[in-house]
Amino acid sequence: MIPNKQAGAALEERPGADVEAWRKDFPVLGRTINGKPLVYLDNGASAQKPRAVIERIERYYSTEHANIHRGVHHLSQEATAAYEAARETVARYFNAAEARECVFTRGATEAINLVASSWGGANLTAGDEMLLTVMEHHANIVPWQMLESRLGIKLVVAPISDAGELLVDEWEKLIGPRTKLAAFCHASNSLGTLNPARELIAKAHAHGIPVLLDGAQSAAHLKIDVRELDCDWFVCSGHKIFGPTGIGVLYGKADLLGAMPPYQGGGDMIDRVSFAGTTYRGLPERFEAGTPNIAGAVGLAAALDYLDGIGHDAIAAQEQDLLAYATEQLSQIEGLTIYGRAPNKVALVSFMIEGIHPNDIGTMLDADGIAVRTGHHCTMPLWERFGLTGTVRASFAFYNTRAEVDALVASLKKIRRLFLG
Ligand code: PMP
Repeated sequence: MIPNKQAGAALEERPGADVEAWRKDFPVLGRTINGKPLVYLDNGASAQKPRAVIERIERYYSTEHANIHRGVHHLSQEATAAYEAARETVARYFNAAEARECVFTRGATEAINLVASSWGGANLTAGDEMLLTVMEHHANIVPWQMLESRLGIKLVVAPISDAGELLVDEWEKLIGPRTKLAAFCHASNSLGTLNPARELIAKAHAHGIPVLLDGAQSAAHLKIDVRELDCDWFVCSGHKIFGPTGIGVLYGKADLLGAMPPYQGGGDMIDRVSFAGTTYRGLPERFEAGTPNIAGAVGLAAALDYLDGIGHDAIAAQEQDLLAYATEQLSQIEGLTIYGRAPNKVALVSFMIEGIHPNDIGTMLDADGIAVRTGHHCTMPLWERFGLTGTVRASFAFYNTRAEVDALVASLKKIRRLFLG
């Protein structure tokens, strides 16, 4: 049981939840903000870090650090082994067939830019089409728009329902003879909608089209199996899955990735350099030019091991309980509208309260120690679809509690009274 500080009573958490023990793994959750216990509901933007990750990074820098791959000395070999072991962990975690199918990037954004620039640059020509959805994050729009200006390709955008679900039939009807690629988010960062990725990928493949799956928002909540999904590329960011910032993963099927030209040139990605001509290494090195984020990779592997230790069924049970509870409790606030009512959602709730600007809500929640995100959440075209400029978004992790949902709801009710009487 987690003490409910507002009511002074003991609040029932989900029976069997280990949330109290999990919370102890995250030092920052013990903080107070503005004199109140931190209620961290901005996990969709970035998740907090367990001690296992913090300690792993500290150990790396305290005892193992040197530059990797080219060193003959002991430390360099240890650092190289740690970095490559991290890649093995990532490959195992996402069930890639081989570790070389997992490229370390700075994050999901860089991974999408890599595919757009490398695969797109080599395989798309003027008049070719690619299929997106209106719920994409800017990271899965802008790199393709840059390709649109560079190559003259056309972006085709699939619509969604008022509940925030992709209209799958409409999506499929938009596939035409010039469609060369489909890219979509596994889960929407603004609505929470979980897209039927496996079904969409199978449909795209039936039309001979490869698929890039943006897993930035799904990887923290679901067990991802890239082979079961059969996606051609999968991207995600370490910091949203309890790992460090500045590290991410691009998974790609070996044949596809292996045929892609390098994205950036420099050290480590070359086989031989001469002014007469340079040759490149194979996978994954050809996509990792320069000194990589070694500590980030090692920290990410520690995060994935930690998540495996918690267990994906336990994570899903806790988060889906929080989602249902938050949806029910927030719905009872007068004038509050939830955007994103798909039956399959990850644990986040986007909402507006009539008559109060989202930024005012965010600022006043912060005064109560409650961290949420406000604004467009990098999905401006999505909000245009709803005639809005943004929302307030509470996004949950397995370490959140029903008591924290209660704190959010109580604070929102207070804000509503202050603003609207
Ligand atoms: N796609 C989605 C769905 C996201 O939510 C985000 C981050 N908000 C990104 C891509 C980009 O991730 P990053 O900023 O970590 O590169």
